[in-house]
Amino acid sequence: MPIGAGAWEDVFATIYHEQRRHNRSKIQLSSALDRFRHAASALPDGVVLLDDDNKIEWCNKPAEQQLGLMLKQDINKPIVYLVRNAEFIKYLEHHVDIEPIKLKSWIRLDVTLEIQLVAFGSSQKLLISRDVSQQEKLEHMRRDFIANVSHELRTPLTVVGGFLETLSDMDGAVPENLRNYFGMMQEQTSRMRLLIEDLLTLSQLESGATSLDEAELDVYALLSNILNEAKSLSNGQHTISLEANQTLALVASNQELHSAFGNLVGNAVRYTPDGGSISIKWEEINQEAIFSVTDTGLGIEQQHIDRLTERFYRVDRSRSRGTGGTGLGLSIVKHILNRHQARLEIISEYGKGSTFKAVFPKTRIVHKQTAMIK
Ligand code: ADP
Repeated sequence: MPIGAGAWEDVFATIYHEQRRHNRSKIQLSSALDRFRHAASALPDGVVLLDDDNKIEWCNKPAEQQLGLMLKQDINKPIVYLVRNAEFIKYLEHHVDIEPIKLKSWIRLDVTLEIQLVAFGSSQKLLISRDVSQQEKLEHMRRDFIANVSHELRTPLTVVGGFLETLSDMDGAVPENLRNYFGMMQEQTSRMRLLIEDLLTLSQLESGATSLDEAELDVYALLSNILNEAKSLSNGQHTISLEANQTLALVASNQELHSAFGNLVGNAVRYTPDGGSISIKWEEINQEAIFSVTDTGLGIEQQHIDRLTERFYRVDRSRSRGTGGTGLGLSIVKHILNRHQARLEIISEYGKGSTFKAVFPKTRIVHKQTAMIK
């Protein structure tokens, strides 16, 4: 501190104190920053700080390894110049706070990464990368296991079912007092067969092994078939109606949408007591194509709605079995809709009825010039 006399002494002392306070807070801030960097470096996940132009401000070691970056030389460079992966770049173009995506690593082929962008500060972004190879492997094993077990069960079940059918068709082969049991055995084998078919369908859809067999689909024609199937399932016990925009078509897989719409309409019939009504609609609202089926059936309590598409989730197990359900229908529907970038919406009031909607994006819609005349 310089030596001053009189009023200068006070001025110099104040400046000196201010300077020391400033230095102290600088040291505190830089040690806080160091601690933050240490903590972020110790994270097992990769962390990259990006500015609003996607330039790298900082990253930790796991991010360097997982994304192939080198902080020393890559600092302030746009990350899209360094990570040349089309899916990754597309993901970065989205706004932040969207669902994470899974990508095959471009550094090591046996690694799967989960990438997520999170908003940070005023306009910065935090990019988090996580190695999810182990989870992916387990998921793969689970899918393979279910597919293999279902395949293995299919053959013996076909044999048992076949013999049961032959025996019950043969005159005198089944004593009259056992016929009842035979009927029950046949019923249970066909239930198991349905279950296995659904499990196989689901594992095929989940694995994404088969690509979508898509073409321009005349949805009105498809729904007319489904209407007939529903009438035969209902056996005249319900009033079933179809209201469809005949010029509204989709680019979609006929077989998959038959299964999805058929499942939803089938459920409406199965969960609506006799005398109820079911209305099927196909319309365009706000540039989206919407299939909906509304029933006046049992309805579903709110707490079950979010869980309905889980495998084997049933509101009432015995009723579902009684109506011939496998518990896999809505999981299959959800997967099929996902493959078409469509979403499932469920609105239901307990005791009054339900509406299940499949909402397709504009990109899948085709407008036909004239309605087909049937
Ligand atoms: P399930 O083979 O048991 O019908 P789903 O996956 O098709 O399996 O449906 C799951 C559950 O959702 C059903 O068990 C039933 O409780 C409920 N559910 C589905 N559709 C309807 C509906 N239209 N009305 C009332 N409940 C329904």
